[in-house]
Amino acid sequence: MNLSFKNKVAFVTGAANGIGRAAALAFAREGACVTVVDISEQGNQETACQIEDIGGRALAVTCDVTRLEDVKSALDQTVGTFGRLDAAFNNAGVEQKQLVPLAELDEAEWDRIMTIDLRSVFLCMKYEIPLMLKHGGGAIVNTSSGAGIIGIKGNPAYTAAKHGVIGLTRAAALDYAAANVRINAVCPGYIDTPMMARFTGGTAEGRARVISEEPIGRMGQPEEIANAVLWLCSDAVPFIIGHALVIDGGQTIM
Ligand code: NAP
Repeated sequence: MNLSFKNKVAFVTGAANGIGRAAALAFAREGACVTVVDISEQGNQETACQIEDIGGRALAVTCDVTRLEDVKSALDQTVGTFGRLDAAFNNAGVEQKQLVPLAELDEAEWDRIMTIDLRSVFLCMKYEIPLMLKHGGGAIVNTSSGAGIIGIKGNPAYTAAKHGVIGLTRAAALDYAAANVRINAVCPGYIDTPMMARFTGGTAEGRARVISEEPIGRMGQPEEIANAVLWLCSDAVPFIIGHALVIDGGQTIM
């Protein structure tokens, strides 16, 4: 099974932290040149340094993935620096500030979540796909969530956005399947990242509450998502198209 990304170029958003950083490092370990993209400049630079420390090549681009000009510029810089684009992991995202029933969710928070968690995935794919088509194809993975396949109480905007990511993934996958651009999604369960630290309040009680919803009895690690992302982007799985891969310790089958 060929999981090598030697001579390939990967683009990872949300790369300053958590799942995105783990994926950026995993792509680099397998030989890819990696563009690391995040709104957080410092964390993003740290990820690039970690890639260089393991002998990889990285380009750090500070970018707000909700802004068309930022996304386009980050991709232009990728091709300018590394010459092509083979794999993209559209992963940047945020959680709702608070868990609230729908009628108590204000419009600004709805718009913020939909813009960062869904519109950004559209914008990224809109500019990634033509770059991939230029050299015969590529692979894209978008980050959805367990909230992309089941309803989450008190989380209407996030749940809608993550369901939207799967719909967008499937529609785009059909548009480009015959052109050899494979588009899939991952649906992580509870993963131990800075986002999860905010969600649990960083307390032992908060962590225990989340873990109680995980049949496996623990949170997932960012590397467990990263490994699946690399597999979906690799040449090992050319027949996987438009799939939403659930990686959640059993959370959503309870
Ligand atoms: P994280 O630790 O908060 O990392 C996400 C990164 O995205 C952060 O560095 C964040 O920067 C960045 N970001 C936020 N808004 C951005 C924007 N507009 N443009 C560019 N970068 C932006 O989160 P994570 O847990 O790794 O989550 C990654 C993805 O997995 C998200 O889409 C999330 O919804 C999804 N997910 C996570 C879990 C989980 O349990 N952790 C479960 C299911 C799905 P700042 O920190 O500066 O905001």
